[in-house]
Amino acid sequence: ATMPPLLAAIANAGRHGVLVKSAVVMERLGQVDAVAMDKTGTLTEGAPLVTEVRPLSVSALDEDELLALAASAEYPSEHPLARAVVAAAREKGLRLGATGAFVSVPGVGVRATVDGREVAVGAPDRPARSATAAGADSEAVRREAAEGGRREVSEAVQCEASEAGQRETARIVGELQHRGRTVVLVRVDGEPVGVLGLADRLRPGAAAAVRSLTELTGEAPLLLTGDHARSAAATAAEAGIEDVRAGLLPQHKVDSVRELAAAGRKVLVVGDGVNDAPALAAAHAGVAMGRAGSDLALETADAVIVRDELAAVPAVIALSRRARQVVV
Ligand code: ADP
Ligand code: MG
Repeated sequence: ATMPPLLAAIANAGRHGVLVKSAVVMERLGQVDAVAMDKTGTLTEGAPLVTEVRPLSVSALDEDELLALAASAEYPSEHPLARAVVAAAREKGLRLGATGAFVSVPGVGVRATVDGREVAVGAPDRPARSATAAGADSEAVRREAAEGGRREVSEAVQCEASEAGQRETARIVGELQHRGRTVVLVRVDGEPVGVLGLADRLRPGAAAAVRSLTELTGEAPLLLTGDHARSAAATAAEAGIEDVRAGLLPQHKVDSVRELAAAGRKVLVVGDGVNDAPALAAAHAGVAMGRAGSDLALETADAVIVRDELAAVPAVIALSRRARQVVV
């Protein structure tokens, strides 16, 4: 018997390095007319390097101490930024602290107890305290509530130091974002102690994939990112993307997809992170990066790009369209 066109297309997609999970998905891939791409780990290699380690002057930490503290908190995380921070500390031969009570909040950052102190590493404009709003597990929520009282007292005492720290933080964060860095803030017991800058490279072939997708759908892909707009702008420009939605929490990525769907569009989402999983699920078709991708993204997506080559995305759309021409 000859193989049905959609099954043949799945086999063909496999040869292009795309694992398509069903014939229904294979068909849907050819129907998409809008593409939304994640930044970190999708458009970029997701193997960022720590380029700046900047302890605040109020913190009394040196660069190595700040990096070791951040790496200890990030140690259990699978996020690309976390792996970069841990790798940078390893490279310097720094000794990490004992990490306990770890909480990871997708799109926000991590929080962990390091040698008895609470260390948070994450987006500067989204302190770990908004963790509750972002849907951390109930244990984290309870801990937040329990710590609220203690914070009020210590905050009153440290008010002055905190204000100077906040001014210094804003200055350094602004400077690094201006350079196109992804910036994370390190806090100890709620107080900012330092800032890390990370630089990530565009994947080779990203700009070409964006051009192909623009031709296939008649419109340039959209960039959806949890990173800051200033940091994302450089990557977007390099990839040939103009429409950037930045500072998004995982639910905001879903909102963007739903908004397009409500306007009658069939949206393809390409992502890698735990933070992308809800958007991958909400999309007409969701594609995850196989290597950079988190387990949750791989499970949620309808198709997986095994070798993380973005050229596979337009290729699989074209394959689906050809198969459908055979079917009808
Ligand atoms: P993207 O949408 O570009 O893939 P994420 O949604 O994963 O990015 O993260 C958005 C922002 O949240 C990051 O730029 C960073 O500031 C912060 N963040 C998320 N996870 C972590 C982490 N493990 N360590 C430090 N910062 C993090
Ligand atoms: Mg990502």
